[in-house]
Amino acid sequence: MQWFEIAPLPSVSDRRTCNGSKWFEVLRQRAPIQDIAKHIWYSGATPKHAFHMWITNLNRLPTRCRLALWGMQVDTSCCICSFHPETRDHLMLSCPYAMVLWSEVRRRCRDVVPVFNDWSELMQWSSSSSAPAPSNLRMLVAQAIVYYIWQQRNNMLHNQILVPPLVTFNGINRHIINCIYAARKRKKFCSLMALWLI
Ligand SMILES: [Zn+2]
Repeated sequence: MQWFEIAPLPSVSDRRTCNGSKWFEVLRQRAPIQDIAKHIWYSGATPKHAFHMWITNLNRLPTRCRLALWGMQVDTSCCICSFHPETRDHLMLSCPYAMVLWSEVRRRCRDVVPVFNDWSELMQWSSSSSAPAPSNLRMLVAQAIVYYIWQQRNNMLHNQILVPPLVTFNGINRHIINCIYAARKRKKFCSLMALWLI
């Protein structure tokens, strides 16, 4: 189990027979949850983006693959590209739409941004830090991308409208600049504008 994942609670039947060591395993995971919470709910975060990231990190978004798992009769192909099963990792990381957004981040960021093969790699990257890409900038970017992709996915699902990815990235870029500007007097934000814009 990765450090940012949450141990599943024992099932109802298990809870009746659960011994102390099993509950200990569940409770033992509280510290890692606090660790990832600290990164997601960082000081200066956009609340709706942080909340959405929290839900996404728990893999609770109602993607089509999850809806199918719940027994719903739905087409499981990606709402955006239609080529692959719509899982969280596909939508946010490997869908062609997401890949355009991440390639724009790579162009902007002054540190290496890897290609994320799965969600754990994204969370690992966004909660790490370096001088040219501090963790609050990484998390700000990651949360904005994840939020905007889900918005576009829903726009496609409900309205059959998809904004071109570079236009979406302009919105993401504007959001990031506004956030950095609003928090410019905070110690951890005062240097971010130069890191993001140059
Ligand atoms: Zn796709």
